[in-house]
Amino acid sequence: MAAAIYPGSFDPVTYGHLDIIGRASLMTERLVVGVLNNSSKNPMFTVEERVEMLKEACSHLPNVEIRSFSGLTVDFAAEEGASVIVRGLRAVTDFEYELQLAQTNRKIAPALDTIFLTTNLEYSYLSSSIVKEIAAYRGDISAFVPGFIADAIHNKLKSEEQI
Ligand code: ADP
Repeated sequence: MAAAIYPGSFDPVTYGHLDIIGRASLMTERLVVGVLNNSSKNPMFTVEERVEMLKEACSHLPNVEIRSFSGLTVDFAAEEGASVIVRGLRAVTDFEYELQLAQTNRKIAPALDTIFLTTNLEYSYLSSSIVKEIAAYRGDISAFVPGFIADAIHNKLKSEEQI
């Protein structure tokens, strides 16, 4: 594969996402991780913060680039010259939504294909929302995200408490 994109919210990036990024980067010449700037989702981290965290977490992967985007995923793929969208599948619950998304994208951009990487079993339960929820109750999240991201989550929660 020449170039592929891996789009998502990454609010924040978890070991589940990083596993998909590492594996997809081995299959592509160039992998562009697209951080969706979606204000309606009320994210914990700004899009700039999410991009910076991903850059740090992926700095050891020379063919991985991190960018933010807004609008349609198919337009982002075209801008990046990518012919493939990578998505991760955790469980059956992801499947219906992901299938609908992939089929819609293929309808509007027939040259673009979606490939799915199944989650590493170790991370099949893991989502950004779960990590934020555990952190909100002061649980240990060190098994789910890199240390600097755990610190960023705890700092964000502290600053929210002070408001
Ligand atoms: P979105 O808001 O687009 O679902 P996410 O950041 O939650 O964005 O996820 C981006 C992609 O990564 C999706 O394809 C999602 O299924 C996948 N993903 C999320 N968590 C995991 C995980 N633990 N293992 C494998 N894939 C995952």
